[in-house]
Amino acid sequence: MTFAATVLTLYPEMFPGPLGVSMAGRALERGDWSCEAVQIRDFATDRHRTVDDTPAGGGAGMVLKADVLAAAVDRVRADGPARPMLALTPRGAPITQARIREIAEGPGIALLCGRFEGFDERLFEGRPFIEQVSLGDIVLSGGEPAAIAILDACIRLLPGVMGAPSSGVEESFEDDLLEYPHYTRPQEWEGRTIPEVLRSGDHAKIAAWRKARAEEDTRLRRPDLWERYSNARAQPASGARHDKEGPGT
Ligand code: SAH
Repeated sequence: MTFAATVLTLYPEMFPGPLGVSMAGRALERGDWSCEAVQIRDFATDRHRTVDDTPAGGGAGMVLKADVLAAAVDRVRADGPARPMLALTPRGAPITQARIREIAEGPGIALLCGRFEGFDERLFEGRPFIEQVSLGDIVLSGGEPAAIAILDACIRLLPGVMGAPSSGVEESFEDDLLEYPHYTRPQEWEGRTIPEVLRSGDHAKIAAWRKARAEEDTRLRRPDLWERYSNARAQPASGARHDKEGPGT
């Protein structure tokens, strides 16, 4: 099945861009995914093909018009398969690996890229199916690099795209933990050696070391993830709790 990606943008020439190269590029050639870029400006109705206007209330920059955006969004909704539509904005909830995984298991994705100061807010009131997502607490000049990042994250999870099937599951964020650190040959570099346990051949010991390092690094580097991870472990699933509290125990 082909994962259908549609990007709504003022710069369609940016796609597939870097996704035409390497693993994603080969997957595109094979037809594992498709990439359609829709020019938002094509949905402007005036002679000058205007897509933006000055912000109500004053201030710097320009705002993308709700009527033009809605026309583009409605066309993509009507034409393509039913699939999630994400608008890229720093005001959105940070995208998560869990959401990426859900999307990658579906028929595809539509991505709406902002420019200038962003979108007229009424677009999101009038089209509540649009999810507002952010790539993180940084400000880009446009949604396109964020769309490329999100597409890349989806494409690598599509069946057959990644080399080893297991390389997708043991990774950072899958368990609210960062991944453990990696090492490779040479055994000694600038006087630094690879942790001895990794050369022991003892798979149980290696797994335990990796788990401990993943927990340690998450605790030190990402207190936000660490809190979620520790809470989840402190409160067993409702079924387990029910068993413990059930009659006769
Ligand atoms: N005035 C806005 C920033 C606009 S940046 C604000 O302060 O919230 C222009 C466009 O770049 C946005 O409309 C959005 O599509 C994109 N963009 C910028 N930063 C982003 C981020 N962290 N995540 C996703 N998209 C982003």
